[in-house]
Amino acid sequence: MLSQTCQCAIQYVCRLKKRLSFTKSRTHNMPCEVTARFLILYGSQRGQAQSIAEEICEQANEHEFTADVFCLSNVEKYNVDSESRPVVFVVSTTGEGDPPDTAQKFVRKIKNKSLPQDSFSHLCYALLALGDTNYADFCNCGKTIDRRLQQLGAKHFYATGHADDGTGLEVVVDPWIEGLWEALKKVFANMSTADQQVAATSGSLSKNASSQENNRSDLAVDLHLLKLSERDSQKENTYESVQTETASTPLVASLKHSVPPLSELALNVPALPHSYLEVLLETASTEETAPADKEGYHEVPVSKAVQLTRDDSVKTAILLELDISEQNIVYQPGDSFEVLCPNRANEVEELLLRLGLQVQKNDAVQLHLLKNTSKKAAKVPPHIPQKASLQFILTWCVEIRSVLKKAFVRALANVTQNGSEKQRLLVLCSKEGSADYNRFVRDANVCVLDVLRAFPSCQPPLNLLFEHLPKLQPRAYSAASSSLQHPGKVHFVFNVVEFPECPEHPARTGLCTGWLADHFSSILQPPGTVPASECLDTSALPKVFLRPRPSSTFHLPGDPSVPIVMVGPGTGVAPFIGFLQQREKERQVNQEVTFGETWLFFGCRYRDKDFLFREELERFVHNGALSHLIVCFSRDEHDGGKMVNRSRYVQHNMILHAKSVADILLKDKGCLYVCGDAKNMAKDVNDTLLEIIGNELQIDKLETLKTLAGLREEKRYLQDIWS
Ligand code: FAD
Repeated sequence: MLSQTCQCAIQYVCRLKKRLSFTKSRTHNMPCEVTARFLILYGSQRGQAQSIAEEICEQANEHEFTADVFCLSNVEKYNVDSESRPVVFVVSTTGEGDPPDTAQKFVRKIKNKSLPQDSFSHLCYALLALGDTNYADFCNCGKTIDRRLQQLGAKHFYATGHADDGTGLEVVVDPWIEGLWEALKKVFANMSTADQQVAATSGSLSKNASSQENNRSDLAVDLHLLKLSERDSQKENTYESVQTETASTPLVASLKHSVPPLSELALNVPALPHSYLEVLLETASTEETAPADKEGYHEVPVSKAVQLTRDDSVKTAILLELDISEQNIVYQPGDSFEVLCPNRANEVEELLLRLGLQVQKNDAVQLHLLKNTSKKAAKVPPHIPQKASLQFILTWCVEIRSVLKKAFVRALANVTQNGSEKQRLLVLCSKEGSADYNRFVRDANVCVLDVLRAFPSCQPPLNLLFEHLPKLQPRAYSAASSSLQHPGKVHFVFNVVEFPECPEHPARTGLCTGWLADHFSSILQPPGTVPASECLDTSALPKVFLRPRPSSTFHLPGDPSVPIVMVGPGTGVAPFIGFLQQREKERQVNQEVTFGETWLFFGCRYRDKDFLFREELERFVHNGALSHLIVCFSRDEHDGGKMVNRSRYVQHNMILHAKSVADILLKDKGCLYVCGDAKNMAKDVNDTLLEIIGNELQIDKLETLKTLAGLREEKRYLQDIWS
């Protein structure tokens, strides 16, 4: 029996032969302008839709198509009003079902009610919508574009895909892309030759030029692959030894090892992603711009850090008070902020060591596009500054903890010397190895450093890291204060996220919460201390980079007499502390002000260990800012010998108070706010609301769903949830 990698190599050659024969037939039968050319448009918020769109563009070449890929915001580059080529849309959804910033203009344009009903009857398209079922309005932007294009006469040439980040985008994305090629073949086959010529030549002259260039680069890719395949087949001896090694490995699958039958299958491995960056390291002086200078971050001192939970609590919750008095920042309770924290210094050091670049860590990095790269739409990643030091880039610019995508795994396999290690990496990125990839990479949150630890012979050059590591993302935190009560200050509350040790990686804390906890440990006050209010020398305090997030709708109603229900277990109580501080202060300023009934459903594990803001909440009840504080403890089973744990979670208490909740929402035109964990709590609360509304109005499921959707639409059911 042939070893797997040997079979891989044979498959490469077969695919290559197919490609070469296509290149020939295309050259013989069609003028090169008549390549099957289509357009990809993406709307991306955090780069996922963009990288999928670019991936489709890359793969197009392998499937004998040519594609142009543009961001939806680059309106000067494309024109859907007259587009005759098939169009593939890849769009994500953000916030509360909103389009990403880059797609907003496009969505506004197609939503224009004055557009004639047949405005897009010329358009045939496919759409891949990205979303997260943990949030309301899953894939809403994609669905909106899809619905509107249909209303305006556009036709699908392939069924819409809805990919869920909650379960893993690739579960839908990979098979969707796989099916796309067949659908495109059909659509081009149905187009008359004349249509094809129009399609192929649509766009500017420069596109024609690039089309010819693409044909040439297709050939270059083929030749490159031939070399690779030859190399792979020449390594047959190594692969034979892989078999021997595999035979002696334990029969338990892990990040490092495949087991039968997977280890014996022929593999469909994705094409090697085209390299496109050249990295130069110079011992020149570096030009490092602090993140505060770019992208709207402010560097602010943290004037107070208090541990809110007891030391023996399962989770550690910390309150930070940030001094924003020197900044021009205005916020309302319910707003949130973004905090940019660096990658952990020890991980950056280990990465440098592992790449053999420790000595060069202070060198200035210059990035250029590789001449003759075959990557379509290649550009130097804008998040990597020129002439910054290597250490600075690895610390502040790229997310070194990001979970490895299959394309990155594929690229890493290519720079792995040891046969069995290379083989395992190829399995992990292959079609057949999808379940292993999901289990040992995606679900285990395996990052590049984990792979470098597990596969010692993997030696990636620096350009590979810069080509695949995404931009370091800030983390959002809700304001847990009112600026009326704390002028010049904003409070955050967070749990230090902990990931225990597992076979794939050592124990670690969440990137941002772990860093915040360490960075402010010197000023951290123990639980139960009444924070000192003396004026501290802010210049001596540790600092953090933050910027306000665009304002949300998660605010108190304009009319204080409107009744409200707040549901916020754990750190989800954060914005409600801000709401209640605001009301407390308003009451102090104006004794006459009347507040509508105000309910808070809070929950934690134990009354004595993690009841966040207990004294402050009791004070709010005492002074009338809060009418009802309903608390449950999920792990406290006994109270004075009596079993009291009937309501474990907030939704159980909502059921106990169903009549009041229903009256507030359905009779008194009140608002319901939910904040905290998106994965379980927000879903359970949503289901409970459906139950409460259905029972109260005695209506069926569909009508209940419509009623809840109506409340959402009227901004009376608001969520600020995260996973
Ligand atoms: P990260 O390192 O980013 O890890 C977090 C997630 O990554 C995990 O949930 C998991 O999915 C995954 N992950 C990474 N590594 C592993 C691993 N080894 N094993 C398993 N899973 C892993 N949080 C608060 O505490 N308080 C708030 O007030 C608050 N407000 C928010 C407001 C908004 C609008 C949003 C969007 C989020 C808010 N969050 C809040 C969440 C917060 O932004 C962060 O996501 C959270 O603090 C964790 O960040 P981190 O960098 O420590 O964790």
